[in-house]
Amino acid sequence: MPADVQALFKKHFGQAPTHLVQAPGRLEVLGNHTDYNHGLVLSVAVDKYIFLAASPRTDGKVALVSSAFARPELFSLSDIRPDPAAAWANYVKGVLVQLQKRRVNFSGFNAAIHSTLPMGAGLSSSAALEVATALAVRRLSPFTLTATGLGPPPRPDPRGQLPPLTPAERMALAQLCRAAENEFVGVPCGILDQVSSLCGKPAQVMEIDCAALTVGYAPVPGAVLVVCPSLTQHALAGGEYKELREQCAAAARQLGAKFLRTVELKQVQANKARLTQREFECAHHVVGEIARVVAAERALRAGDLEQFGQYLFQSHESSRDFLRNSTPELDLLVRLARHHPACLGARLTGGGFGGATINLVQHHAVAGFMAHMMAQYEKSTGLKMTPLVCQVVGGAN
Ligand code: ADP
Ligand code: MG
Repeated sequence: MPADVQALFKKHFGQAPTHLVQAPGRLEVLGNHTDYNHGLVLSVAVDKYIFLAASPRTDGKVALVSSAFARPELFSLSDIRPDPAAAWANYVKGVLVQLQKRRVNFSGFNAAIHSTLPMGAGLSSSAALEVATALAVRRLSPFTLTATGLGPPPRPDPRGQLPPLTPAERMALAQLCRAAENEFVGVPCGILDQVSSLCGKPAQVMEIDCAALTVGYAPVPGAVLVVCPSLTQHALAGGEYKELREQCAAAARQLGAKFLRTVELKQVQANKARLTQREFECAHHVVGEIARVVAAERALRAGDLEQFGQYLFQSHESSRDFLRNSTPELDLLVRLARHHPACLGARLTGGGFGGATINLVQHHAVAGFMAHMMAQYEKSTGLKMTPLVCQVVGGAN
């Protein structure tokens, strides 16, 4: 809550913050591992946030404190380096380095971070932290980022409010935050997480085109989105994610394309002999998944919830059997969900190898669905899992 982050700031820095920003987490609704293949994704921003309270400093230093970590961090803007003892600060530092690279002029600051967004649960707390950092710097030292560089800084209104970010500015900030995670943190993520945190609209599903870098909007399906964490390892920074990226890139090369986005399923089938087994499987998943996003968009616009839910189930099967980024626990969660009569669709969401599932559940039976999932998951695994109901909210501000 904003009050919590303000209290943390006051406790740590001894005065009230001058600025407060918030960045939501995101849920990948459909389109698994399509973003870095320049494909399509359906995504929503959800009502779980990173809150960041800040005040300027005049000594060129940045002091950070987070309610999620015991040790605060202090560093100078003229010497930004990773600190193994506070790896979480790398997400903030990475953004500051990218701002410096784009010649944004900003001063030091104190910042407190508090979150209602679980870490490593597939809701992308990392992107929310990056986005919150970028927006806090914009408040402290207003700048305008465009696709080609820096524009004239925005003028605050008489009440000191900055004009809202344009869609183009949001996209430029998303690219900056992604570069921070890729280069400073060393996670080779696509752009889905950062775009979703920045570009969400209340009650709208984002249709993100990761090649054109455009976002379209469609009304959210008339059912409830429930996240079920598997409570098992989410190893995004690890080798598996990178391995899938490399397989997809190699498959695209073999098929004469720059990215799998421009490849068709019949091409993958026809050229099976030229691909290794893993390249074939990854290409089959990605190309099929992009086509599924297009079909699902159509179902969404037609208000065909049943069909939309079927695409979620199909997506899970494709991730499980072709991309092979599922786990026994994620498969179990999807199976349990399928057995519940009010569940319209379910699939693993995010990087995979642990993390969470997303479930589309009929309004009238949400409580019953959650109780069913908790009881059955605990019965099979011994793990006490609490499902999260997600409301679809607007982007960071
Ligand atoms: P995800 O983005 O799926 O939640 P990641 O592993 O990509 O998982 O990012 C989680 C990391 O982001 C944490 O380990 C931490 O370094 C950073 N982080 C997330 N939330 C916070 C927070 N409230 N305070 C400080 N760092 C955070
Ligand atoms: Mg992340």
